Amino acid sequence: MANKIRVATTSLAGCFGCHMSFLDLDERLVALAEHVEFDRSPITDIEHCSNCDIGLIEGGVCNSENVHTLREFRKNCKILVAVGACAINGGLPAMRNFIPLEECLSEAYLDGIGVENPQIPSDIELPLLLDKVRPIHEVVKIDYYLPGCPPSADVFWKFLTDLLEGREPELDYELVHFD
Ligand code: SF4
Repeated sequence: MANKIRVATTSLAGCFGCHMSFLDLDERLVALAEHVEFDRSPITDIEHCSNCDIGLIEGGVCNSENVHTLREFRKNCKILVAVGACAINGGLPAMRNFIPLEECLSEAYLDGIGVENPQIPSDIELPLLLDKVRPIHEVVKIDYYLPGCPPSADVFWKFLTDLLEGREPELDYELVHFD
């Protein structure tokens, strides 16, 4: 493998399952660490993404903060990757797209079972929800897609080692699944 590459990762409207699957690389993480440095990521303490070779994005876009983060990644990452079903097509969270946002908020904060002190949070610190959950390619240009919910550790391994070794990433048939 050639030089160290800089990788940033984030979870937008994701469940962190794609990150957990990445960690399923287990001992291969040690090998990877020799060739990869991590920038902004849930596994580092770096708050903002600086210049990176690869940005791995888990999750779709469900609120204003997601849009902001995604744009920051696009600006700073040479290669931006949609990781998992949520980033690719909105995933399971996009099921809320069939229900008006007001109804979702009412169910969660006003009349849902077990709600106490009903009120819709409105603090200025909170990001505003978008009317729909969007796949990330609707907001910025995406270079690669890693399918799966989540993609397996083998998918991450094949994709990253292909890039590290200067090959165009290619997933074998058995690595491609959407569930
Ligand atoms: S694709 Fe699946 S595992 Fe990944 S963030 Fe979405 S729900 Fe979680």
